[in-house]
Amino acid sequence: MPPKLLIVEDESKIARFLELELTHEGYEVDKVEDGRAAVEAALSADYDLILLDVMLPQLNGMEVLRRVRREKDVPVIVLTARDAVMDKVAGLDAGADDYITKPFAIEELLARVRVALKRREAAASAPEAPEKPAPSGQVLSARGITLDVEGREVNYDGTPIELTQREFEVLKTLLENLNIVMSRERLAELACGYDFVGETNIIDVYIRHLRAKIDDRFNCKLITTVRGVGYVIRED
Ligand code: CA
Repeated sequence: MPPKLLIVEDESKIARFLELELTHEGYEVDKVEDGRAAVEAALSADYDLILLDVMLPQLNGMEVLRRVRREKDVPVIVLTARDAVMDKVAGLDAGADDYITKPFAIEELLARVRVALKRREAAASAPEAPEKPAPSGQVLSARGITLDVEGREVNYDGTPIELTQREFEVLKTLLENLNIVMSRERLAELACGYDFVGETNIIDVYIRHLRAKIDDRFNCKLITTVRGVGYVIRED
């Protein structure tokens, strides 16, 4: 059975183009043109991947993503406008697996689709993770912050801090590399795990979020910007 893909795109030219290219690659393809139809389709059929435009009639892509995510863990690649950094971050935080900016090169989109499908396949065939993480997991700390890697908990001086998955990964990467100035590229690679070439301003957004949640709230200085280089957490 070929992988089954859902295209959610209201610009019919783009939708048609994607349908032709993806069908040509051997995928089975459905397409819908608005947010409501997207949620309905995604929840009533089992898709292997969803390509989701953000600007849609009825419900926008983020809302579609949130509604689908509540019930399904199907991989979602969000299609965003080139400069919509906040859309990308919001998409990733809402549970998108990847994003691609419009206008896109079809080869790049096909490559991203292959990667997302492969990751899904690998996750499906991986042995079940143990129910509970070992309590004696690794704990990273500096400057009042404590991060429990397996428990996925972060505290400042004992006060719990809620972080999204990617904020957590960025903070963890900085704590794992104390005193080492990390470039945006390196942070993106280590924290997000795949190629963010040309999109490293995403890291600036995560750093801003972390500063709002930690530095501003607790009136401390956790993450230092090294102008022109990147970011670092220095030991006390
Ligand atoms: Ca659109």
